[in-house]
Amino acid sequence: MILPGATLGVLGGGQLGRLFTMAAHSMGYRVVVLDPDPHSPAGLIADQHIQSAYSDHAALQMMADECSAITTEFENVPAEALHYLEQRCLVRPDARSLAVAQDRIREKTYVSHCGLNTAAFFAVYEASDIEENIHTLSPPMLLKTASMGYDGKGQIRVSNLQEAIEAFEELGKQPCVLEEMVDLECEISVLLARSVTGEAAVYPVGENLHINGILDTTIVPARLDPVVLDGAVDMAAELAEKLDYVGMLAVEFFFTRQGDLLINEIAPRPHNSGHYTLDATVTSQFEQQVRTLCGLPPGDTMLLSPVVMVNILGDIWGSEPPPWEKLLKRPRCKLHLYGKHEARPGRKMGHFNCLSSDLESALQLAETVRHDIAPGK
Ligand code: AMP
Repeated sequence: MILPGATLGVLGGGQLGRLFTMAAHSMGYRVVVLDPDPHSPAGLIADQHIQSAYSDHAALQMMADECSAITTEFENVPAEALHYLEQRCLVRPDARSLAVAQDRIREKTYVSHCGLNTAAFFAVYEASDIEENIHTLSPPMLLKTASMGYDGKGQIRVSNLQEAIEAFEELGKQPCVLEEMVDLECEISVLLARSVTGEAAVYPVGENLHINGILDTTIVPARLDPVVLDGAVDMAAELAEKLDYVGMLAVEFFFTRQGDLLINEIAPRPHNSGHYTLDATVTSQFEQQVRTLCGLPPGDTMLLSPVVMVNILGDIWGSEPPPWEKLLKRPRCKLHLYGKHEARPGRKMGHFNCLSSDLESALQLAETVRHDIAPGK
């Protein structure tokens, strides 16, 4: 076990790295962040910010020398950097889990091989793959880049062969998946922490609402039949076990109008849809990340209160910042800002959690506050 007083490393200095750093600090650990951005949200509060590229061996060596264990806040760490670190320091989650999560082709293929359902898809490396296989899918479809896509980026909706070929060209002919669009009843996510000894602690399932492909709201508990929720939990736990996963894992699901549960994506780290755990569960997902990284057992995931999390995007900034006083005057609304200097449309600047004794009033509070801080938007 790695105990308080030790130094932990995190690759990536965005909001997830920052919230990891805050959790680690409150438990008495030191934190080293590696991120090229001089203003990275986590770098600003870390004990040490190594400002360098992820491919810089001298920087990676410095991090390995300083840290007892290293984790990551995003899955797109170059495989080579991870390999370098793994030979010098304890790294969790392992390179294999990251490799599965960082490429949609590997991810969907792995999930299918585990006997778990995804939306119907096939891999596209060349235009001929589309020509040969498009008959296996029903329109509409989505062409998604296999790597580096997030928040709905790198995705084009298509309805026939010609559009799919044009979309493939538009995306630079990089490896993609062509995927059937499903008839969504709703989207949910399962978050779990799994320890070195295989002990898993699962969080209450969140119901996720997206706007323009970006997560907007997470509602907990999800308003779905408990049988469906249990099914999702079982699928996520099975996946974690098959990967022999150690760390925080998020599994995003589509629940279709036809009653099917399909795995959309996995994230080998804390997830935006788990930000409600900062205020509404016994242990936050970031404390779990620290715990699992350090070889400690997961903390309790019990929900203390119904909760609604709402993301705050840069879109609501005008010449002045939003009127935070209108949010802060609400005793059951908790603000989390990530310390980003520049607000841009679509950029995640923070989130707020609304707590209440019943879900309906938490939802109402969330809508009131959303309107108060962004009148007219
Ligand atoms: P992704 O980047 O794959 O998580 O996609 C972002 C969002 O786009 C999802 O959360 C869904 O709201 C929507 N989406 C993605 N793939 C599909 C699909 N096959 N069918 C319906 N909606 C989808």
